[in-house]
Amino acid sequence: MKFKPIGHFNPNIKEVDIVGAGISGLSLGYFLSKKGFQVNLFEKSDRIAGKIVSEKTPNGIVEKAANTLLLNQELKPILEELNLECIEAVSKLKKQVFLETRKINFRLKIKLIIMFLLGIKRKIPTKANNLQEFFTPLIGKYFSSELISTVLGGIYGVSSKNVSPQNLFPLKDKFFADSPRSYFELFRYMRNQTSGKKIKKMISFSGGMEDLPKKFFEKTNFKSVHLNHNYQLKNESKKNVILCTNALQAAELLGEINPSLSELLNQTKYQALNTTTYFLSRPISSLKRSFGMLFSPNSNFYSLGVLSRSEIFNLSGQNSYNFISSGIISTELVNEDFTRFSSSSTVIQKSISKWSDAIPIMDHKQFNRLDKMKENHNNYNDNILLFSHYLGGISLRDIILSAKKFSSSL
Ligand SMILES: Cc1cc2nc3c(=O)[nH]c(=O)nc-3n(C[C@H](O)[C@H](O)[C@H](O)COP(=O)(O)OP(=O)(O)OC[C@H]3O[C@@H](n4cnc5c(N)ncnc54)[C@H](O)[C@@H]3O)c2cc1C
Repeated sequence: MKFKPIGHFNPNIKEVDIVGAGISGLSLGYFLSKKGFQVNLFEKSDRIAGKIVSEKTPNGIVEKAANTLLLNQELKPILEELNLECIEAVSKLKKQVFLETRKINFRLKIKLIIMFLLGIKRKIPTKANNLQEFFTPLIGKYFSSELISTVLGGIYGVSSKNVSPQNLFPLKDKFFADSPRSYFELFRYMRNQTSGKKIKKMISFSGGMEDLPKKFFEKTNFKSVHLNHNYQLKNESKKNVILCTNALQAAELLGEINPSLSELLNQTKYQALNTTTYFLSRPISSLKRSFGMLFSPNSNFYSLGVLSRSEIFNLSGQNSYNFISSGIISTELVNEDFTRFSSSSTVIQKSISKWSDAIPIMDHKQFNRLDKMKENHNNYNDNILLFSHYLGGISLRDIILSAKKFSSSL
């Protein structure tokens, strides 16, 4: 879902300080500079790209965070403009889900389809706090907790109990205010909203995901770039300032200038994630022509899922697999998952990446906090804007399209 930045931006002031050189800062910098703004970029580390890290090793690329970008019609012209060399995912890959004790099978699929057809005309609980409650009338308690939790675990890194329906559906739209709606009406409405913007495919880039932020950087005419620069906010800035950091870093920056906003930002919760990349001597047979497998939180796997990068992008000979697990799980337990999957292959290389602030938890509390942040910031006229994934869209596509929409609105 696209999101709106929170705060103030004065379009008559042509100079902008962007704090943070992740995909949020870089994509916004690109679009603003195209609009004629003079952009200064500040990054506290010694590299650009933030959480997107594609480490090149003799065995292949290790993606330490994002592995894929979901391409749609809106994003396509932007990538063309950037002149990026894309690699496309193999089409018709299997998406496997391991529920409590077994993989989702034909019998369960039929049961799910029947429940879906029986539930489609039921009314949506629009006040549902989480996706589990939201989908229960449609597909029943078992599937809404097991299946939705498992799938979301692979996307958001958390259970469906911790994801607000607002992440997926525009529940504040007039469409819902008019009268109670059924799932059937919702799906039809969503289809109309997204017609012509359909998801086409998953992609990556020849040099890995890092090509994306690097290209935004390369194609932007920055007024100045400051690496190793821990930005400090001043009380009165004559420029626009956009904070493209995570919520906790933005809270720190705003501490003295706007304590109440800083306090709200500080309450944002993050899910810690680890990714463990294995390069193997042989492919894992159960993951052949498969996107990977997601594991239910109630299964006896410890990880959230495994992504078969070499199968997705047809990287013959690489046999690379990414196990994604919540940050509290030890590397020994991830190894146990791996061994259960692939006892016969030799591990050629193993890389572990840990993220303490991987993904913001977008539950109903976070959306309530966002409403309060908007109210709070309306009382200030400080030319400070917040722009990053904790505002509503965590994926790279959401961030880039939100950046474009914001700059186009100026
Ligand atoms: C394990 C994992 C897997 C993921 N998989 C996918 C995927 O497959 N597809 C997808 O679309 N998305 C995925 N995501 C999500 C996506 O990668 C992130 O949402 C996105 O990269 C966040 O970008 P950002 O620019 O908002 O934040 P960041 O990348 O965190 O950038 C913020 C930058 O601000 C800098 N900074 C902070 N404070 C200051 C300061 N005071 N002064 C200067 N600089 C400062 C930081 O150093 C950092 O570089 C994944 C994320 C993780 C962690």
